[in-house]
Amino acid sequence: MTNEDLRREVNDWLAAHWRAPGTIIQSMWETNAETRAWHTKVFEARWSVPSWPVEWFGRGLDDEQTNIVIEAFAQVGAPGTGQDRFNLPANTLLAAASDELKLTLIPGLLKKDITTCLLYSEPSAGSDLAGVRTRAERDGDRFIVNGQKVWTSGATVADYGMLICRTDWDVPKHSGLSFFFLPMKQAGVEVRPLRQITGEAHFNEVFFTDAVVPASHLVGGLNRGWRVLQTALAYERSSMGARARGSRHGAADDLVALARAAGRLDDPLLRQDIARTVALRRLNTLNNARAKAELEQGTSSSIMSLGKLAMSRILHEEARVRTAIIGVESLLAGETQPTADDVNFLALNAYFTSIGGGTDQIQKNIISERVLGLPREPELDRNIPFKQVRSG
Ligand SMILES: Cc1cc2nc3c(=O)[nH]c(=O)nc-3n(C[C@H](O)[C@H](O)[C@H](O)COP(=O)(O)OP(=O)(O)OC[C@H]3O[C@@H](n4cnc5c(N)ncnc54)[C@H](O)[C@@H]3O)c2cc1C
Repeated sequence: MTNEDLRREVNDWLAAHWRAPGTIIQSMWETNAETRAWHTKVFEARWSVPSWPVEWFGRGLDDEQTNIVIEAFAQVGAPGTGQDRFNLPANTLLAAASDELKLTLIPGLLKKDITTCLLYSEPSAGSDLAGVRTRAERDGDRFIVNGQKVWTSGATVADYGMLICRTDWDVPKHSGLSFFFLPMKQAGVEVRPLRQITGEAHFNEVFFTDAVVPASHLVGGLNRGWRVLQTALAYERSSMGARARGSRHGAADDLVALARAAGRLDDPLLRQDIARTVALRRLNTLNNARAKAELEQGTSSSIMSLGKLAMSRILHEEARVRTAIIGVESLLAGETQPTADDVNFLALNAYFTSIGGGTDQIQKNIISERVLGLPREPELDRNIPFKQVRSG
């Protein structure tokens, strides 16, 4: 098929099917009937993951052709395609799961019938994820899970949790981990919401008491979870480097519009600040495109850390410029002050990108060790059986 044929096919299909509906949710945690209906249409027409193989719900398109499909959807504002680049659970399954599990979960994930959360961090294992202590023990054709996770976004609504846990305590910490897709809606899983600085409660503590996960939901093999986690983290960092959440009222996303509305577009210092942040965003978009191309070719994922770190710094810098633009108005808050509310929300929410998915400091460690080739940090517990690792 030529590029022109493809462009015609996707545009014809969109013209026949896309009617901007009320609310389509773009989140891995939540869904609704309209979101499911539209994503099902996209899935059945094989536009969800254009570059994936034909036998796995895709069309086997190359990078250039995939961009044609993504651009056609973007032009009419239709979501649902390009999930081969950002759907974290689906991409993780495609890379590492058994065919049986792929068939069980991937269609639901692409159609937005199934939502997921990330069961990684624990009270004493955040940056050092290889130190998790939640355990899974084999019991016939299932595993029994006990332990606790924390900071789990979306756990109250998720159908499945992507769980990293310990299955062997006699080997060094990276070697005894396994990765599961754990059903969340069961008696052995208790979710307790945590309130955030933004006033929202996306975060949760999750407690497992004899929770059950079928052995068929193990991804990547027993005690091979660390590699699977690296794949999942690379997709997460890639999407956090490429995108950030917008404001609540849409009143402060665009710095130029914000400065114009505040009557400050003539201020030469603000103009310089705005130009710098716009340029940084553009540069980061280009860098991310390069990193994604490398990831698709199966090379290192370390470069994803650069994009995520850059996005974190850009968001904090934009927050500073927004606050300077509106000046003392930024002391106001609440629904009656949408501009100040948005400026403050975006400033607080910048910490999402600098902590979630691995902190800025951890991204710097990865860049220094794996991109720049600097010496590794000393790790005294790296090569001893995990059961001998001290904790307190
Ligand atoms: C908005 C948001 C959403 C999140 N969502 C999820 C989720 O859905 N699922 C999930 O599992 N987790 C989630 N997290 C948790 C997040 O991944 C952890 O908070 C993060 O990895 C840091 O772990 P920690 O909080 O235990 O801090 P710690 O690891 O205790 O770190 C504390 C401080 O020490 C620094 N530090 C630690 N080790 C090093 C080192 N080796 N070198 C230099 N500095 C170091 C850190 O940078 C940090 O500043 C989320 C966090 C946020 C903010």
